[in-house]
Amino acid sequence: MKTKYLIIVPDGMADRPVPSLGNKTPLEAARTPGFDRLAREGAVGLARTVPKGVTPGSDAANLSILGLDPARYPLQRGSIEAASIGLPARPDTLYFRANFITVKNGLIVDHCAGHIGTREAQKLLAVVNREVLNGSLEGSQARLYTGVSYRHTLAWRAPAPFRARLLSVHLDGPHDLVGSDVQQHLKPYASLPHVEIMMKTQKVLEAHPFNRGRKRPANMMWLWAQGEGKRLPTLRERFGVSGAVVSGVDLVRGLGKLVGLTVVNLKRATGYYDTDFDEKRTAALRELKQKEMVYLHIEAPDEAGHDRNAAMKKKMIEVIDHKIVAPILAEVSRWPDRVRVLAMPDHPTPCSIGTHTSDPVPYVIWDSKHPLTRGMPRFTERLAARSARPIMAHTILREKFIHSREAL
Ligand SMILES: [Zn+2]
Repeated sequence: MKTKYLIIVPDGMADRPVPSLGNKTPLEAARTPGFDRLAREGAVGLARTVPKGVTPGSDAANLSILGLDPARYPLQRGSIEAASIGLPARPDTLYFRANFITVKNGLIVDHCAGHIGTREAQKLLAVVNREVLNGSLEGSQARLYTGVSYRHTLAWRAPAPFRARLLSVHLDGPHDLVGSDVQQHLKPYASLPHVEIMMKTQKVLEAHPFNRGRKRPANMMWLWAQGEGKRLPTLRERFGVSGAVVSGVDLVRGLGKLVGLTVVNLKRATGYYDTDFDEKRTAALRELKQKEMVYLHIEAPDEAGHDRNAAMKKKMIEVIDHKIVAPILAEVSRWPDRVRVLAMPDHPTPCSIGTHTSDPVPYVIWDSKHPLTRGMPRFTERLAARSARPIMAHTILREKFIHSREAL
């Protein structure tokens, strides 16, 4: 009998009690027969995905779930997402995250330009490439590459001293700057080449006809999270398993690629509330039939956390349960192969604060051939915290999931 491994990551699902939900967390308030089955028949624990001193980004948190300690493998999102769209990791090149954002009256009002569509974004990327990044700056060459929706990559090939200048400052991600004054934020760094480029994009994009009449115009490009190309130890090198990553988010696809997973192309994944959950389930099951491991990531609960929308978060958790978790468990229970499932959010994105925290998250490990009978009634933050002391999440694959058939 073969063993297959499925990792399900509802991004940012963990939360804190919300008054409007009767002091329950969105996960507690949601109807989740699928997650509850995992908890009942599996082993629930508590894990720290973000070590002390590391920013609680989805990059560090997902890297932990993939079994690598983010404190040992510091990565910048720019380099990760460059990998996801197939750019080679060149040592003479820096890779930036490039976001379309909306600025109104000098303030950042939307970190994602109203979730601009990829095809529309592509047109504006061409405009910036043509009108802002044309020609060489001090022997360097910068170019934008298309990602998904508002998230794109800028590759900047440059001589070492120029790269050092580009690395001298890391701006905050725009999702943490909503409400901030652009000029005030950028003024101290105005002489840096990438900050100059950002200001120029504002002029060119503001005037572009595409943005006329748009409620959330894509009127600035924000450059951040720049880093060099990096190589990571692969899952095959560490555990002898290979597999695929199913995600609509470039960052997660890039991390998957860096640890040797195949990136599955989804036609209708958006990384948002309107993503096609059926397509994700079908893709995950198809890949799991053929391969040993699937990393299935769903972004929607994180977005609801950033939007501070607890009702939407609860709804998204219910949709994930209904369309993904419950039907997948029903399906793999019928397979002759043993299927082990690890389900856990990468980090909390509490609706009350609208951003990520480093608090420990609940996880559950379930085995299709070895269901337990004395697990927990439900999969919730509170029950997990009551049952266990937190372990470091990067140890889960090695100690509890892949090499531990006895873990349950
Ligand atoms: Zn997030």
